[in-house]
Amino acid sequence: MRFIDPHLHTDMIDDVKLENLSMAGMEAAVIPSPHMLKGLFSAEAVLRLWRRFLDFEVKSAKSMGFEAYVTLSIPFYGLSLEGVEQCLKELPEYLKHERVVGMGEIGLDVGIEDEARLFRAQLNLAKDHNLPIIVHTPIRLAPQAPTVIKQIVNVIKEENFDLGRVVLDHTGESTLDFRLNTGAMVGLSVCHDKMPPEVAAEAVLNNPDKRDRLVINSELGDSYFSVPRVIMAMRMMGLKREEIEKVTFENPKKFFNLPID
Ligand SMILES: [Zn+2]
Repeated sequence: MRFIDPHLHTDMIDDVKLENLSMAGMEAAVIPSPHMLKGLFSAEAVLRLWRRFLDFEVKSAKSMGFEAYVTLSIPFYGLSLEGVEQCLKELPEYLKHERVVGMGEIGLDVGIEDEARLFRAQLNLAKDHNLPIIVHTPIRLAPQAPTVIKQIVNVIKEENFDLGRVVLDHTGESTLDFRLNTGAMVGLSVCHDKMPPEVAAEAVLNNPDKRDRLVINSELGDSYFSVPRVIMAMRMMGLKREEIEKVTFENPKKFFNLPID
C-alpha cells in the first residue's frame, strides 16, 4: 500500500533501509532538520546541512524511487548564540526553495528558556512565510512530556500561530487525548524510543472521529518499527483501505500540500 512518511531523517539512515521503504510503498517523505545536533557546530555547518537536504537528499531519494520534501529549522542545541543569530538571518532565503514544505523540527524538549526563545523566533518566521510546522515534543516516556506539551501549545497560542498548521510529533499514550483536542495534527512517531506500531494502530482504531487529525511517521524508518508495520497492524485490526490511506497518505499530503497524485 502506498504511503508518505512525513518525518523521516533520510540523512541518518542507510540506503538499503530507504530502498526497503520505497519497495514497501513509500512514495514520498518529508525530511525535517533535526531538533538537536550533538556536539558544537558552527552556523556554516547548519547551512551545509540545509543545502544537503535540499540538494543531495532530494536527488538521492529520486534515485531510490521516492520524492523527498524538506522542512528547515535551527537545532535547539549545538550552536553559539551568534551562530543562532546568523542562522535566523540566513533561513528566510532557504525557505524560498521549491522543496521546502514547512519549518521543523522546532519546539521544546525540556522546556527551558533557551528553547522557548528559539521556538518563538522560528514560529514567527514560519508565520511570515506562511508555512506549516513540525513540532518536536518530548518523547513518549519522557517524564516532562505531560507538562512540556502544554507549555508548547501555550507558546503556539501566545504567538498566534494557527494550530491547524501544526503537527505535534512524537506522541505518547499519556498525551494523546490532550493533543487530539488542540486542533493540531497529531503525529504518531513510530521508532525504537517512541510509539510501538501496534499502539499507533490502536490509536487510529480508537479515534474514528479524529482520523482527519492523525498522521503516522517513523523518524528513522526502522525496518521493524516503521510506517509499513503500522499499516499491517491497522489491516489486522480490521481498518479499511480508505481509513488507512487517510492517516498514512491523504493527511500528510494535504497538510504539507505535496504535489503527489
Ligand atoms: Zn525527528
